[in-house]
Amino acid sequence: MKPRILLIEDDVHIRRFLRASLPTQGYELLEAADGREGLALAASQPVEVILLDLGLPDLEGIEIIRQVRQWSRVPIIVLSARDQEREKVVTLDAGADDYLTKPFGVGELLARIRVALRRSLQDREGRAETFFEVGKIRVDLEKRRVFRAGEEVHLTPTEYKLLTVLIRHAGKVVTHRQLLKEVWGPSFVDQGAYLRIFVRHLRRKLEDNPARPAFLLTDPGVGYRLRAPEE
Ligand code: CA
Repeated sequence: MKPRILLIEDDVHIRRFLRASLPTQGYELLEAADGREGLALAASQPVEVILLDLGLPDLEGIEIIRQVRQWSRVPIIVLSARDQEREKVVTLDAGADDYLTKPFGVGELLARIRVALRRSLQDREGRAETFFEVGKIRVDLEKRRVFRAGEEVHLTPTEYKLLTVLIRHAGKVVTHRQLLKEVWGPSFVDQGAYLRIFVRHLRRKLEDNPARPAFLLTDPGVGYRLRAPEE
């Protein structure tokens, strides 16, 4: 069966663009022009991914995410305008999985959809990967060993924990708050300085050029993204 994607978007141009591109890539597309219609569709039939515009005429995107999250873990990719950093962070913290900034290309959209589908498949099967490999970096998650271009890299326990959280979310952005909470704990969510220091350490150990990272990427004002193997 073709994976079914629900697009909640009032902009007819974007709907037309996705209607022309997604079905030819093996996806079935459902469309809703506002939040209420989108929620009704999401509740009435199974969908594999939701693409959610943040600027809808009736409901706030965050309200839609909260409602969907009451009954479903379906991946939600937020579509937002360039100047909506604050809203991106809020929606990601509310349970959205990822975001795309408009205007986006179809290649970028398809990559995010693939990442979302892979993650929800792993979730459903309750299966964890034993190895993670991207570019020169290879992580043996069972033995907790990290290699760069075949050479073992020694990470401190906190560096390793940060890396594994990013690996678990590989391909999608993780907000500063989410990372601080998962690595250091709920009382550390405002300690952004910790995160910056440890990201710098990881980049120094893993990147060819830590000043121009190729794997551990910054999403300015939002969080960090580890490049996924399929990107
Ligand atoms: Ca809109």
